[in-house]
Amino acid sequence: MNDAPKVAEVILEVSVQKALDYSIPEELISKINVGTWVEVPLRSRLSRGFVVQLKKSSSFPTLHPIARALSDGPVITEDLFRLALWMASYYGTPIEKVLKTMLPSGVRKAIGVRKQYLVKRAKTREELSLLYQELAPKAPQQAKILELLLPTKKGILLSELLEQGECHPSSVKALVEKGCLTLDLVRSQDSLVTGESYFTTPPKNLREEQVIALSSIISSLHENRFSVKLLYGVTGSGKTEVFIQAIETCLKQGKGALVLVPEIALTTQTIQRFKSRFTIPIAVLHHRLSDGERHEAWTAIRTQGARIVIGARSAVFCPLPNLGLIIVDEEHEHSYKQTEDSPSYHARDVAVMRGKLTQATVVLGSATPSLESFYNAKIGKYELLTLNERSGSAVIPEVHIVDMRREYDKAKGFTLFSDLLLSKVDERRKKGEQAMLFLNRRGFHTTSTCTECGKVLMCSRCECALTFHKLHNLLSCHLCGYDCAPPAICPHCRKPSLIRYGGIGTEKVEAALYKIFPDIRVLRADADSTKHKGSLERILNDFRTGKADVLVGTQMIAKGLHFPEVTLVGILNCDTTLNIPDFRAQESVFQLITQVAGRSGRGITKGEVVLQTSIPDHPTILAASRQDYPSFYAEETEIRKTFFFPPYNHILKFVFSGVDQKAVEESARSWSEALQKQLPSQFICHPALPCGHPKVNDRWRYQCLVRGPSVTFVTALSEKLNKELKIPSTVAYFCDVDPISTFF
Ligand code: ADP
Ligand code: ZN
Repeated sequence: MNDAPKVAEVILEVSVQKALDYSIPEELISKINVGTWVEVPLRSRLSRGFVVQLKKSSSFPTLHPIARALSDGPVITEDLFRLALWMASYYGTPIEKVLKTMLPSGVRKAIGVRKQYLVKRAKTREELSLLYQELAPKAPQQAKILELLLPTKKGILLSELLEQGECHPSSVKALVEKGCLTLDLVRSQDSLVTGESYFTTPPKNLREEQVIALSSIISSLHENRFSVKLLYGVTGSGKTEVFIQAIETCLKQGKGALVLVPEIALTTQTIQRFKSRFTIPIAVLHHRLSDGERHEAWTAIRTQGARIVIGARSAVFCPLPNLGLIIVDEEHEHSYKQTEDSPSYHARDVAVMRGKLTQATVVLGSATPSLESFYNAKIGKYELLTLNERSGSAVIPEVHIVDMRREYDKAKGFTLFSDLLLSKVDERRKKGEQAMLFLNRRGFHTTSTCTECGKVLMCSRCECALTFHKLHNLLSCHLCGYDCAPPAICPHCRKPSLIRYGGIGTEKVEAALYKIFPDIRVLRADADSTKHKGSLERILNDFRTGKADVLVGTQMIAKGLHFPEVTLVGILNCDTTLNIPDFRAQESVFQLITQVAGRSGRGITKGEVVLQTSIPDHPTILAASRQDYPSFYAEETEIRKTFFFPPYNHILKFVFSGVDQKAVEESARSWSEALQKQLPSQFICHPALPCGHPKVNDRWRYQCLVRGPSVTFVTALSEKLNKELKIPSTVAYFCDVDPISTFF
């Protein structure tokens, strides 16, 4: 016992730059380990923190003792802690910030709270509504509690209720005693096991190429050795089926499986596919979970109550012990990247690193892999597994490229739909098949111009044109969310003006369809129509069950959805994205067209795609129309190589922002100059420039790019520069490692 470490290094939740030493009191020795959450004194208050190391002694003569152990065991596993250290160095972020990212606030807050209670309604909504009105004037706390409980289905965790309602437990108790509410002790797996149940469906007989892919994954699982497989398979080729069967093997080995999907794909459809194949509980982590639900899910995962976890970006940090398999579906998806805050991590890259630290098998799946991943497969860092065919009778859809310049000539001006697209929509409608129309802009009109002075109406807080939304008769800014009624007087020339609207959004497409086909049934899926919880699910479900002929939507409908009745996809316009001065513009457009086109003809009937463009000869559009990833890859990597862009180099983007434009610009400039001076010649440092959106929410944004062979070299240097250059406190600084975009 005398050999036991007496000192713990603790990283605090409040921002203290380095770990602090604390002594471990005798009675806590058995409870304190690396990863334990503890309460420690700091400046005469108690703070919470995380033990990062145990030591025999400290170089400081007098130490404060740890006050309390908040968690029973480590809150994050050792592999996660090592992952955090790697992230801190790679993404140039202080370790405490990384740990905060790893542990969601709901989980941090609930640590140390031993028992969780679920509060449920014991009377009907009507009865409680009446009671609410009665209580509101005399017992506001009890009324508040009822208000929070009325809309819930399954109830609320007590801790959450108390926090949200800012009320005292005695108010809850009073309502329980009146027989209005019940209070039940929660066992950690409850919320996972209850909920909907699904019919179990048997595994499919795999096609030969699926068998080859699966056996490669399985043999690596059996070897318990880290390896990364890139499962490149056209849309509908049965990648998900391979994932599911790989997970079955992983579970048989007694190990856990983690499946990452883009947030948008976390629909009932995806979950249902998994749930109908496994009888054990699956933990689903999506961003709409409440703090309490998240905490419950984490507890279940940590205690192996759930051995399959499906989740979006941050699920890569879930504390699943004994990890065997990590799947990253749609690995090219940009939503895996955290772009606005440090650490600017990419969940795919973090997944690969986590696999390396745990000797797990990592499978990246995509029909349009990121150039980085395909490159890694080409140079042998990853193993390439290919699925060339669609499952069953489904074949790759036929793509018609329509030259919109001719359509404009024919129509003597702008037209939204080509003749071909209209005739095909009509044909589908008559046959009772379905169509999807895709446009990357929401709203009704995308620009509004004063007819007096010709100036475009802009957001007052951002450098951004306002979009007109007809339903609510509002002009809105898609960057900051500001909105207003269309002004009667032009803000530029101060004259009473008529507004001329231009540009097309999804709302307009929907309206135009009704005008042309009065009895057509249209559903629309975009950020406006899916604001409320569950609304996207409802729209997709209505579409799936045949309640509409056409689904109009943005990116939202491009990915991963499976509607067997859809035999036509129209892509109205994707040229605008091609013209953005960004190194990834071509790649994004290629991915988008291929993914959207992949929604067509997933059932028995062959699908068609109508692609409207004003640049029909563009190589990216041609390659995408053939779903020809290899030739796109060959062409695009040639360009990337010539200009030293990823995958041949890394990029770091330093973003400076603040209200004072001069201070922001000055900080970016001095940063760029200092980097230029101190970086070796293999690094290319760009001069400071305004970002693609130079002003958002009254804050100016400038950036400085660095390209080079090593990330950590630059992040280490920038840590030093940060101390030397003394950026004014009014200017925020953010380092985006391996950015998605060099423009925005
Ligand atoms: P992907 O994930 O590559 O888009 P999916 O796994 O969604 O493809 O497969 C598309 C459809 O084909 C699904 O309905 C799936 O159930 C079915 N499917 C997959 N593999 C097979 C197979 N070997 N035999 C029959 N149907 C299959
Ligand atoms: Zn704005």
